[in-house]
Amino acid sequence: MNTYRIATIPGDGIGKEVVPAGKEVLEALARTSNSFKFEFENFDWGADYYREHGVMMPTDGLDAIRNKDAILFGSAGDPDVPDHVTLWGLRLKICQGFDQYANVRPTRILPGIDAPLKRCTPEDLNWVIVRENSEGEYSGVGGRVHQGHPIEAATDVSIMTRAGVERIMRFAFRLAQSRPRKLLTVITKSNAQRHAMVMWDEIALQISKEFPDVKWDKELVDASTARMINRPASLDTIVATNLHADILSDLAAALAGSLGIAPTGNIDPERRYPSMFEPIHGSAFDIMGKGLANPIGTFWSVVMLLEHLGEFEAAKRVMRAVETVTADPSLHTGDLGGKATTAQVTAAVCALVEKVPVAA
Ligand code: ATP
Repeated sequence: MNTYRIATIPGDGIGKEVVPAGKEVLEALARTSNSFKFEFENFDWGADYYREHGVMMPTDGLDAIRNKDAILFGSAGDPDVPDHVTLWGLRLKICQGFDQYANVRPTRILPGIDAPLKRCTPEDLNWVIVRENSEGEYSGVGGRVHQGHPIEAATDVSIMTRAGVERIMRFAFRLAQSRPRKLLTVITKSNAQRHAMVMWDEIALQISKEFPDVKWDKELVDASTARMINRPASLDTIVATNLHADILSDLAAALAGSLGIAPTGNIDPERRYPSMFEPIHGSAFDIMGKGLANPIGTFWSVVMLLEHLGEFEAAKRVMRAVETVTADPSLHTGDLGGKATTAQVTAAVCALVEKVPVAA
């Protein structure tokens, strides 16, 4: 029997509601399996921890989760703590500390979800966005001088390294190759940014030669927003820089019906460290503590976590349960125009997951 050690980090806001819901689904799954089980450890890091200790997580926090098989994360964000503190103090600390350089964001229109694009069928929109997650515009390099004076100056320097670009391109081409359409779009802005983005393009061309069976094209980031709306079926796997993919994946989530549905994985493809899975939404303070958060984004993240552990059958079972639940409008939460609670959606998914036991 395999025992998977999972760190749960609910963080802030509705993270505290959806991560326990995700854990419930994993527990339901484990009850029907005689081949694997989970050992959970919870970490109360986040803005409340910050208020008490002055840091979002302990300085030696990474050591406490280093040996886990995966991390299930909620969100980081608080109305009373600056966003750059919550983000850099927790989520990015883990992403960078564990070199989770590939951020993978699948988008599909799930059954029963009313997506905003009128001329788009669920078959037309089935994308995976690969976001470079370790450098680029979010390298954290920069500075601020003469604060408050008229001569104040500030920089955020985008750093792109050959090693960083090569590894994300290779990851994206490999992912595209593993999907039925074997189609990759490389997002760029090399018309305006004539140094790093030109290197990005050159490396894409270089790595493409390793994957002759993958069809690929290049698209400027501004044009790609229009293409996502006008020609969604022309896209499949998409690779973009940290900033570009951050923006495009929120657009993708909205086009698929709701921010509450979309999942993501922060992956260390070399498996030196644990990878981290989380819904893409934030803390949603407007609905926190009311039991109204849509847990589907977390459940889909649980599917990605299971795939990462190599538990493909179990992952399929959770995904089927999620699709059955989204197909039923009486199980839609407020963000989808329904009245269901987090607890009702979670109970429905758990019941379906437990219905068909996994073969040993
Ligand atoms: P943060 O600052 O942490 O990113 P935010 O509140 O600015 O958080 P999000 O949490 O990403 O931004 O969400 C924006 C809005 O979308 C929320 O105010 C909420 O109404 C809605 N929303 C997001 N996630 C969910 C969810 N899981 N269930 C229901 N509604 C959601």
